[in-house]
This record gives sequence, C-alpha cells and structure tokens, in this order.
Amino acid sequence: MSRGEDDLISWDGDLPPRIDPGEYNAVVLWTKPVDRYGNRTLTFQWRLLLPDSHEQIELAGYCNLGPAKHPKIRPGSKLASWQRAIADFTHGTPKRVPTKAFKTFWFRVRVRTVTRNAKGPLHPRDQYSVVDDILSVGGKRSELSADSLPPLDKRATAITGYPSSIPGLGPLKKDALSRCEQCDEPTSFSYRGHALCVTHANKELINRRDK
Ligand SMILES: [Zn+2]
Repeated sequence: MSRGEDDLISWDGDLPPRIDPGEYNAVVLWTKPVDRYGNRTLTFQWRLLLPDSHEQIELAGYCNLGPAKHPKIRPGSKLASWQRAIADFTHGTPKRVPTKAFKTFWFRVRVRTVTRNAKGPLHPRDQYSVVDDILSVGGKRSELSADSLPPLDKRATAITGYPSSIPGLGPLKKDALSRCEQCDEPTSFSYRGHALCVTHANKELINRRDK
C-alpha cells in the first residue's frame, strides 16, 4: 500500500457504537477511575449480552465521584445507587459493596444516546451510546450460560473474523447497530459507511484485492 499525501494523522481508538436506546442485559468487563477537568469519574466498561453472540457490543458508563482531590461517594450519587442495587440483591450493606463486586453479577441496564457534551449539542454522526443506569441485578454472572459470557479477565476480542481494513473502503469501524447491506444480518461494524456482516466483509476484501 502506498503512503502519500493522503495520509492523515492516525486515530487513537474510536467512538463507542450507537445503538437503539432502551433496556439491555449487560456485564461489567472492567472499571477504572479517571480524572478529567479536575473531577474523578469511575468508568465502567460494559459488555451487552445480546442474543447473537457475534455481536459483541461494549459501552462505557460513568459515575461521578466529585473533585479529584477529594473524591467521595455521596449517598445521592449514581455509584451509591448502583451499590444499593447490589446490596438489595445480596442483602448486604451498600457502603460495603466494593467496585469489584460489579464484575460478579449481570444486570438489566438502561442505554441512552449521548447527544451533547460540555460544549453543546453533538452532530448525529458524533453521538454514541452509554450505559446510563443499572435498573436491577439480573443474577450471578457465574450462572450465565458459557456462550453468552465474555471472558472475565481479558477484554473481549470484539471483532474476530472481520478484516481490519478493506482496500478502497478503509478501516473497520464500530458503528451503530444496523444491518449488513448485502444480506440484512445485524451488525455493528462498517467500512466507510458500508455496514457489513463478517461474511460479506471478507467477500468484499477478496473481491477488491483481486481487482
Ligand atoms: Zn452480509
């Protein structure tokens, strides 16, 4: 592949996908505290449990812990509410629910679309989905069937089987949940706006290589 004047500065990561807002089942893959603009946020990385196990959609969820210098869990905060959800399920004490406990259950969650940031409204192409809230604890993660379970320790290899790039179309992109434009199979991956399932992504790769 020739690299010339068309080269851009490379991207780091990508926007999370945008899917239909609503209720989903999900598990927590990992959590990480992040300081932004002087505030501490606890980031939750969620994996949705979708009937089609080829669809491995990950979304973030955020709990604000106040100023980074003095983070704390306020009783009215989202994190306290999420701890109460677990404590209700386990008959435990909300204040004693550690962050790692979130990885031992699956949850019914509400997903919403982020339509604005601190600077104002987001253009539709820049909107994405987040896990807004935990509605209830569904059960213990260890009781889920094996095929619906993402690996506990590693980040899911979300895009197994998809070519990382298709000549003439460009790199694989996580996208809003839509349908393959050639066979109608649900997919959340696309190449420059062309939504493709894993089969047709690979066919397209071969077709374009051979030209
Ligand atoms: Zn297809």
